[in-house]
Amino acid sequence: MTTIPSELAGHPVIIGGGVAGLMTALRLAPRPVVLLSKAPLGMEASSPWAQGGLAAALGDDDDPALHLADTLGAGDELCDADIAGRIVRAAPAAIEALSQFGVAFDRTADGALSLGLEAAHSRRRIVRAGGDGAGRELMRALIAAVRRTPTITIIEGIEARRLLVEDNAITGVLAAGPAGPIVFTTQRVVLATGGVGGLFLDTTNPEASFGQGLALAGRAGAELRDLEFIQFHPTALDGPDLPMKLISEAVRGEGAVVVDETGRRFLADEPGAELAPRDVVARGIWRRMIDGHRVFLDARERPGADFARRFPAIAGFCRAAGIDPAVQPIPIRPAAHYHMGGVAVDTAGRSSVAGLWACGEVASTGLHGANRLASNSLTEAIVCANWVAESVGGTFAGRARKPVLMNLPPPPDPSFVRPIMSRGVGLLRDDEGLREAARALLALSSRHGAASDPATVGLMIAVMALRRQESRGAHARVDFPRRFPVARRATLRLANAIAAAREIDVPTLPAAQRA
Ligand SMILES: Cc1cc2nc3c(=O)[nH]c(=O)nc-3n(C[C@H](O)[C@H](O)[C@H](O)COP(=O)(O)OP(=O)(O)OC[C@H]3O[C@@H](n4cnc5c(N)ncnc54)[C@H](O)[C@@H]3O)c2cc1C
Repeated sequence: MTTIPSELAGHPVIIGGGVAGLMTALRLAPRPVVLLSKAPLGMEASSPWAQGGLAAALGDDDDPALHLADTLGAGDELCDADIAGRIVRAAPAAIEALSQFGVAFDRTADGALSLGLEAAHSRRRIVRAGGDGAGRELMRALIAAVRRTPTITIIEGIEARRLLVEDNAITGVLAAGPAGPIVFTTQRVVLATGGVGGLFLDTTNPEASFGQGLALAGRAGAELRDLEFIQFHPTALDGPDLPMKLISEAVRGEGAVVVDETGRRFLADEPGAELAPRDVVARGIWRRMIDGHRVFLDARERPGADFARRFPAIAGFCRAAGIDPAVQPIPIRPAAHYHMGGVAVDTAGRSSVAGLWACGEVASTGLHGANRLASNSLTEAIVCANWVAESVGGTFAGRARKPVLMNLPPPPDPSFVRPIMSRGVGLLRDDEGLREAARALLALSSRHGAASDPATVGLMIAVMALRRQESRGAHARVDFPRRFPVARRATLRLANAIAAAREIDVPTLPAAQRA
């Protein structure tokens, strides 16, 4: 039997308990809000795994204009410069707000924030915590803060399976709980469901991060943007663990170099070498691997003996895999890591569906463009949570409409989707591989089984990747190696993706943009 908790009717519902969801809930307080998380807070989210930190122009030699220039450079002309400027300018205040919420950032002996360097940043501007434990510390402090806020109703172990929509407006959330279906009657929903790495075999994301928010938004009719842009992190530990453990960019920032099994530093001739943008480093490593080599991160000289003190968590999981980074090169391979695309939102986080907002990795604000600058994502989530909360709080809910109920879809399972995505929609893409993937994903998506939601997300990504007949940022087409002279962002609705995939045997899909 379906439960409809009437005492919560009309309250805004946040779906997701990572930094984006927690911070939005805190910013909404003291207005009442419901926070849903399918896992206990702190579990099955990317947020606690963040190692590097948050980017903010706080150094004496830094300025938000420099942070913006680096962000736009990494984004390969696809960022929205206006929104990116707003976010980087708000970043220093967001760090201060986090300190107020009790986040203990790393500081120098004189109490100033200690700032790290990461790839493609022209200044030291990464605010860290616990050396390489920024996400863990952020989550510790934010979870404690939401738990002591009486107006936040936290419901863990509940998975949102469908958004209920009428006339392009939210009327509720259909979720699965331990005792069966639950319907939350609400006209305001914030998606904060994280990324899509769990759609791939090699990923640094929790396996449950397979873009469920995009399936929810897509099925609700929302517009999605730039889904083809998925960042593959160049340096995941090539060990036994799945998801793969991440060796933070900060290790290269401190001087570690990438070598093959012969000791050759094969990226040395690339502009920026190991600290070039992530997509460049990841593709360089991937091509070397395709040529039959093994690839390693060599930290023996720098940071060398200091490794375990500087990067305690990374040293710990390397040791668990039998590697001492101070004396042995670390085996690495690229892994799906971050989704630049997402639900198309405006500066207040509003989507194209009335009453639906998105925040954090599931959203496409325009900050990241075709490639995310390292450590800009936590910053984006924290800054935008504030704007989303203002917008949600300032939106008149009106009278709750009784939602039209539907059957609860089955629990989603991405395991059939992972090999398809990894083969056809990975680091290097081409027309044939993308078509094959789209065909297989369409079949799984239309069966309404456990693979349907993950396949639907994969399908939308594959169709957008097929349409973008250029290589830009993280989207690399071996059959279209050049960029269009003019960069254009692209949007899609699920219905268009399905229609396009049905025509997949037509020789060439209409390109969304051409030179
Ligand atoms: C290993 C690693 C290291 C990283 N390091 C950094 C870094 O140093 N700096 C940086 O800026 N970024 C980093 N990132 C990226 C950053 O951590 C993420 O982009 C960010 O944490 C995303 O936060 P989020 O709140 O949007 O999503 P998440 O933290 O992934 O949280 C998503 C939440 O949604 C819930 N959820 C999902 N679907 C449903 C559903 N249907 N119903 C209910 N709940 C649902 C999940 O259970 C979870 O609570 C890293 C990522 C990884 C994986």
